[in-house]
Amino acid sequence: MPPLLSGTAPVPYLSSCHHDPAACQPSPHRKSKAKPNGKKPAAEEKKMYLEPEYTRSRITDVGFKELVVLPREIDLNEWLASNTTTFFHHVNLQYSTISEFCTGEACQTMAVCNTQYYWYDERGKKVKCTAPQYVDFVMSSVQKLVTDEDVFPTKYGREFPSSFEALVKKICKYLFHVLAHIYWSHFKETLALELHGHLNTLYAHFILFAREFNLLDPKETAVMDDLTEVLCSGGGRGGGGGAGASGGGAGAQNHGKER
Ligand SMILES: [Zn+2]
Repeated sequence: MPPLLSGTAPVPYLSSCHHDPAACQPSPHRKSKAKPNGKKPAAEEKKMYLEPEYTRSRITDVGFKELVVLPREIDLNEWLASNTTTFFHHVNLQYSTISEFCTGEACQTMAVCNTQYYWYDERGKKVKCTAPQYVDFVMSSVQKLVTDEDVFPTKYGREFPSSFEALVKKICKYLFHVLAHIYWSHFKETLALELHGHLNTLYAHFILFAREFNLLDPKETAVMDDLTEVLCSGGGRGGGGGAGASGGGAGAQNHGKER
């Protein structure tokens, strides 16, 4: 497992995290979740994250629906850049809490439900990889983008590139894959670490933000619709509304994925 990126921003989601590896033994290896022979894991194992006792767990009551709205006087691209960068750091950190269990042996493919993700290299060549390799590709490429002055300018007077929104969408798609993988394959470990409240909170915030600005293709996120429904629907703690803002998705590409 390559080292995770360090130097992340302050982490309110995980500020109370006391990660004691000894307290969390790896669960027995569940080999490839989406088996080529079409066999699926047992239902209760598959959707443990949908159990009400777990979905209720959040670390804040903040209404993300209001929080994600573009504040007056703030430039849209600045808002997208700042939030995207923060989500990247949080997803990276959340993954790091279970990364010791996400090995090439335990997670032979980057699979979520019946969907398998493939990485495509810079020349567009499909790369077959394990889940930890895929996550490493995601984190490295996103790190490269968010620290590139030509893409995420921080200096006064520099403009965002015309491709900015498309790049933000791409980043969100990758971050979604990582979050979905944590739920799908590492929820038990996340529970054992008592970090499911953090995960739920991060997921709801991220999804509502992406929805607000049409950053994720609904087809892309369909694989987690049942969870999204529970965590992001109106009335729930930390959720709220969702008033169908997730349409569009125009231009979002299905590049890294095959069904
Ligand atoms: Zn994994």
